[in-house]
Amino acid sequence: KNYRSFEVTSTRTTCPHCAVGCQYDLLVKNGKIVGVDPAKGPSNQGMLCVKGRYGSYKFVHAGDRLTSPLIKKDGNFEPASWEEALSLIADKFKQIKKEEGPDAIAGFSCSRSSNEDNYMFQKMMRAAVGTNNVDNCARVCHSPSVAGLATTLGSGAMTNPFDDITAPDVDVMLIVGTNPEEAYPVFGSKIRRAVREGCKLIVVDPRSIGLAKSAAVHLQIKPGTNVAFANGMMHIILEDGLADMEYIKERTEGFEELKEILKDYTPEKVAKICGIDADDLRKAAHLYAKAKKAPIMYSLGVTEHSTGTEGVMSLSNLAMMVGKIGRSGCGINPIRGQNNVQGACDMGCLPGDFPGYQKVKNPDVRKKFSEHWGTTLSSADGFTATRIPEAVAEGKVKALYIFGEDPVRTDPDITHIKKMLKSLDFLVVQELFMTKTAEYADVVLPGMSYAEKEGTFTNSERRVQRIRKAVELEGDMRPDAEIFYDVMNRLGYPQPTLSASEIMQEIAELTPSYHGISHARLDAGETLQWPCKDEKDKGAAILHVDKFTRGLGYFYPAKYQPSAELPDEEYPFTMITGRMLYHYNAGAMTQRTEGLNELCPSSYMEMHKVDADSLGIKNGDRVKVASRRGEIETTAIVADKVKSGEVFMPFHFEDGNVNYLTNAAIDSFANVPEYKACAVRIKRA
Ligand code: SF4
Repeated sequence: KNYRSFEVTSTRTTCPHCAVGCQYDLLVKNGKIVGVDPAKGPSNQGMLCVKGRYGSYKFVHAGDRLTSPLIKKDGNFEPASWEEALSLIADKFKQIKKEEGPDAIAGFSCSRSSNEDNYMFQKMMRAAVGTNNVDNCARVCHSPSVAGLATTLGSGAMTNPFDDITAPDVDVMLIVGTNPEEAYPVFGSKIRRAVREGCKLIVVDPRSIGLAKSAAVHLQIKPGTNVAFANGMMHIILEDGLADMEYIKERTEGFEELKEILKDYTPEKVAKICGIDADDLRKAAHLYAKAKKAPIMYSLGVTEHSTGTEGVMSLSNLAMMVGKIGRSGCGINPIRGQNNVQGACDMGCLPGDFPGYQKVKNPDVRKKFSEHWGTTLSSADGFTATRIPEAVAEGKVKALYIFGEDPVRTDPDITHIKKMLKSLDFLVVQELFMTKTAEYADVVLPGMSYAEKEGTFTNSERRVQRIRKAVELEGDMRPDAEIFYDVMNRLGYPQPTLSASEIMQEIAELTPSYHGISHARLDAGETLQWPCKDEKDKGAAILHVDKFTRGLGYFYPAKYQPSAELPDEEYPFTMITGRMLYHYNAGAMTQRTEGLNELCPSSYMEMHKVDADSLGIKNGDRVKVASRRGEIETTAIVADKVKSGEVFMPFHFEDGNVNYLTNAAIDSFANVPEYKACAVRIKRA
């Protein structure tokens, strides 16, 4: 500890890593953050994980922060004034708009940044640029949850709060394609505690994750077989008379069509597709269906497939079939990985949705926003982020404004992402650091981290929480929303600069689910989860209690389809990607923390001993891994965490970046890419 308690000031804020939304105090000594003190927030009750405790402040003061705008001249970046940089952006955007139309410009917003910043980014793209080409990184993670649960239930978010689904009276937890102890550790520790106290766990995951060792049943399914698994569970539940027929009759529609499809998914057939034991599937189905309280929790192991949305809807079918939605200790719960990915979606950083999932296609909604924003708005859905490379190649998109995303590190098939960036006429990147993506930019703008500005994040359980300015750094960085104001003004859409609290007032006015949310209420200590209808409403902890948001719950008739790329003779292994405990996404924050780098400095690949032996690979050997899209080198970890024929790599590292290998094949509903299954071959380096 490099401070004494009387030397520091404290500022209560929200962790910028995962979407558990833990609260803590940033401790500031002589204008510098020197540590964090855990707070008793509604989702963390004084707990923090290693990322929140140690990885959430050193990057703020990192020596390589961008401190002034940069303009690329003759291939090199040169410092520029804000006037020069913003004028160049406005001139280029105006020229492209005039020559190609507004839809030739697209923007990626930042799921790490605040609701207020995200709201202003989409307003800039829609009202000032004139396009719905705006998206955020939910596209490459939980877009199937947004699309799938909106289709079946009417609302694409966790149905129940963290504490409700880990309460002592929860009998069974069904966790599918999620590794909470590493990806959402404070939530993971609550699951661990519940299991210790007698809750039975069903783990459905191709890897033997930590929680699998404590599970009553671990269904180690093959990657990409979630729909078959869920259909198999439902087949057994129906056959054995465990369905809640009254709930199905009163609260749902579409059951008969699904029932027809399910006839085909016998336990034996599903066991073969998924590579599991039919009796284990029966055991899991009985445990889940017979439990009084049993939540489903899932993450990217369900969504990041070319059938991701169908995977989500199948889990929703399963929960409805046993009447477990709209009740305490139950529900279907997509656990979000980024601090404000829920908020970025809520704020309308989606190509078909204004804030609050109000559709751009709906003329009444468009009229409301047009009148409020004082301009006409496009009714055409924009391109999703994963469709942008194709749109650039076809000459439909010429310019891109990337706010706080690093697709050259994080998107699938990096070679095609680089090609896309090189083909653009104009690229703006607004960032904290000179990222791999920023290297391709024409203009780089220095933004601010969560510790330097006011605002809110919305965590995975729909809880809106404050972030607060704790430090002011030297340099020419500016609050991100202020930059958007300047761009809007220069594009001929005059806007007064509002404070974050005033922006939230505008959000609340236009967004029914945020109507009752304000900084004043949050600062007064209230804890609010949307939907929050008015200033007296405390928000809804549990969704769909008497009625689904869409009216009746909908059973979507999903059939199993294999992954887009399966192993073959040339590429005989299936690569799965995922998170690990010590790092967060592209590592911009955690990899500027020495201690975390010491704990895990570089990429690795887990493989089964049988496969390692057959290839003459020993634990710790360097290996070359290739897919149809590229080749990388990494270190082999030989163990039994994955099955023979499958391998796993974390996606946090630049050395041996697995996204050179991953497949950009996308899901047809939500356009999420298939990060979780691609075919690779392996040899010793
Ligand atoms: Fe931050 Fe998530 Fe860890 Fe909490 S669990 S401290 S929100 S990374």
